[in-house]
Amino acid sequence: MEQILPENWAFMHFGLIFSITCAQMLVVYVLSDSSNPPAGLGLYTVYFMAALLGWIATTLQQGPNALMALDVPSVASILNSYILFLAAGQRAGVTHGRLPLGIICLLACLCVFFVARPSMFMVQVGSAGLFFAGAGALCAWRAWRQSNIGDAIIAFAALLMVVGMPTALFQQLVSANTAQAHSIAFGVHSSAYALVAIGFLASVLIEYQQHLSHLATEDPLTRLLNRRGLEDALHITLAHALREDLPTSAISVDIDHFKQVNDSFGHEVGDHVICQVANFLNRMSRGSDVVARTGGEEYLLILPNTPLESARTLAERIRAAIGDLPLLVDNQRIPVTVSLGVASADGDVNLDTLAQEADRALYLAKRGGRNRVASVENKPLHLSTADRQV
Ligand code: GH3
Ligand code: MG
Ligand code: MG
Repeated sequence: MEQILPENWAFMHFGLIFSITCAQMLVVYVLSDSSNPPAGLGLYTVYFMAALLGWIATTLQQGPNALMALDVPSVASILNSYILFLAAGQRAGVTHGRLPLGIICLLACLCVFFVARPSMFMVQVGSAGLFFAGAGALCAWRAWRQSNIGDAIIAFAALLMVVGMPTALFQQLVSANTAQAHSIAFGVHSSAYALVAIGFLASVLIEYQQHLSHLATEDPLTRLLNRRGLEDALHITLAHALREDLPTSAISVDIDHFKQVNDSFGHEVGDHVICQVANFLNRMSRGSDVVARTGGEEYLLILPNTPLESARTLAERIRAAIGDLPLLVDNQRIPVTVSLGVASADGDVNLDTLAQEADRALYLAKRGGRNRVASVENKPLHLSTADRQV
């Protein structure tokens, strides 16, 4: 292959950046149309557009044309880096540092009118490095919090800038090698841009995928597990119970006369009651217990390594505590009672069978008059309230 002329490199580079940005904008356009657009989409879009304009200015400077009167590429680079910092903040839900860095951005841009080109290069390299450092910190924090490798890729792009920009400065100031300094700054900036584009798409993709997998296993109203989540969560626990022949108990909980709550106070208040009971069940159970919402106003607690008697005791405590305290929703006192069915099995536990037995006990508690606990233990039945045993 013949050697490619140096001036053609600039246009090839521009072609590459232009293709990346067009593909990126197409994806962003589709994402913005969805019912649940990702956080930070607006500012990332501005960043990609502004960066493209910056690359156009940079490319125009590389040809045989005379230099622009103003150092537009440097100003564009400063602005883009600051917009990336804003976008990373919006996506991470953090707004700290916008104003001070905004003032630095403004001053750095204004320098274009007062300082010579070599000094402007240093201003650009210094401020871009600073803004990328801020964006990188925000993305690293989000990557860690949300377990999202896409944000980690953007943080890596920022790390490249944070290492590359001082290297470029060193070449300019200490080694007095201006050409080398510009090459480093250009190369690092281009790599960082491509990485940000990939990282942003990966971050959005992973976020959607996490959202979908949550929807499959989690109840959106109470944030408790749903039936499928319950099975996933208990996979290992039930295998352990089988190996060690441990007892596993289940408590089926159903709010009494919930239709009346909806009818008297409205559906929204009804939803609040469902959430409050869910929180309450979570608080009253141990860390090793698993709480799930299995129906409208129905819950299932699975208690690993717990015999029937202990499960009955917990069920009684739950019944008494919920029945004693009227729930407060929007300053309204809502009288709520629950009925509970308890069942237990040793060793080999079939979750469906255990839940069915707990439901059978719950049915008896309902038939017994509600606001009570019933249990099934290898067929004999117990039915009780706090004040009487049947
Ligand atoms: P029982 O004591 O026999 O359990 O009577 P109940 O009225 O609680 O039982 P039923 O199963 O007849 O009614 C349950 C009601 O719960 C019916 C339905 O409108 C309501 N419901 C189901 N899911 C939701 C929900 O997500 N939010 C609200 N607010 N209500 C719900
Ligand atoms: Mg009910
Ligand atoms: Mg019900």
